[in-house]
Amino acid sequence: MATTKVPEVRDITRIERIGAHSHIRGLGLDDALEPRQVSQGMVGQLASRRAAGVILEMIKDGHIAGRAVLIAGQPGTGKTAIAMGFFFREETEIIEGEVVEIQIDRPATGTGAKVGKLTLKTTEMETVYDLGNKMIDSLSKEKVQAGDVITIDKATGKISKLGRSFTRARDYDAMGAQTQFVQCPEGELQKRKEVVHTVSLHEIDVINSRTQGFLALFSGDTGEIKSEVREQINAKVCEWREEGKAEIIPGVGPTNTIRGTNYQSPHGIPIDLLDRLLIIATSPYTEKETRQILKIRCEEEDVELSEEAHTVLTRIGMETSLRYAIQLISTAGLVCRKRKGTEVQVEDIKRVYSLFLDEARSSQYMKEYQDSFLF
Ligand code: ATP
Repeated sequence: MATTKVPEVRDITRIERIGAHSHIRGLGLDDALEPRQVSQGMVGQLASRRAAGVILEMIKDGHIAGRAVLIAGQPGTGKTAIAMGFFFREETEIIEGEVVEIQIDRPATGTGAKVGKLTLKTTEMETVYDLGNKMIDSLSKEKVQAGDVITIDKATGKISKLGRSFTRARDYDAMGAQTQFVQCPEGELQKRKEVVHTVSLHEIDVINSRTQGFLALFSGDTGEIKSEVREQINAKVCEWREEGKAEIIPGVGPTNTIRGTNYQSPHGIPIDLLDRLLIIATSPYTEKETRQILKIRCEEEDVELSEEAHTVLTRIGMETSLRYAIQLISTAGLVCRKRKGTEVQVEDIKRVYSLFLDEARSSQYMKEYQDSFLF
């Protein structure tokens, strides 16, 4: 009897792509917008990160809109990384629930008490969260009490109050601890449903122009949006922000060269446009910073590097380019795995250095063999 062979089925459990900037998780600034030397995947480049932070804050506060920022500096000095940090939004879990109990471990000492745990009763479960010192600030600022319906951003600890639905509350002291306790009736949790639309200011202008007639949008034949229209829209958007109906999200539009012209200009941008930009400069990295960035990339790519290999890779980064050195990490990791090693050694780095050319060696190669390539 003929038998049918069932082909082997292989599960693809996980495909993970690691992007060039996947280690960047923000601008690495503290609450006062001061850059930390190493934070959120960012290393050094302190002045430009501080400048980017100031701009980001101004955008969020609605102080500037419709302006452009130029990040200028030598190749591989983190211009794109800073732009990514600018737009990074933590993919965070927002927990929504009703505060059942806030337990404070210790009485206030100078800067404030430490919140020990917060018990949240949600429709699905009752969970106890351990909270650090950070949380008591937001708790006291928001004046959250047991019985409030709140959301907690797990990454930042930010608490937002949605409403209140408690039936009774009592306070008591036990062993020096202060506890507020509220019992909530079942099913009182409010479920919030949000519909979020993201539109650009230009789109709002266009929509607005429909009510005034499309031609109202543009002044003359310059294609520019009329300043009155723009002002009206700015005022409206500010109003929405105040009412909590809208949030301003910065957007990016890269500009490189003036194509198709012989126009010579710094950064390849016409002077009159350049004059309207906010310009942030980046500067080359020190050896220590290069070493640190490479270390972060190794962690991101899950590649173990020996001390000596790290030193050699740093030297390559300084002498060729940071980007080239970063690219050698995954290839050296592969070579190491092929020889069944667990830690990348100098030999693995040497191997990939000889297999893949950096920009200078590849230019040299082209120069040497140009006669063979060009007729
Ligand atoms: P180019 O001008 O060639 O486009 P660039 O200035 O935009 O270069 P990036 O692409 O941002 O440079 O940097 C090269 C690599 O180094 C990227 O993987 C980037 O994430 C990383 N990198 C650069 N600067 C930093 C930094 N300060 N901290 C952490 N990683 C960085």
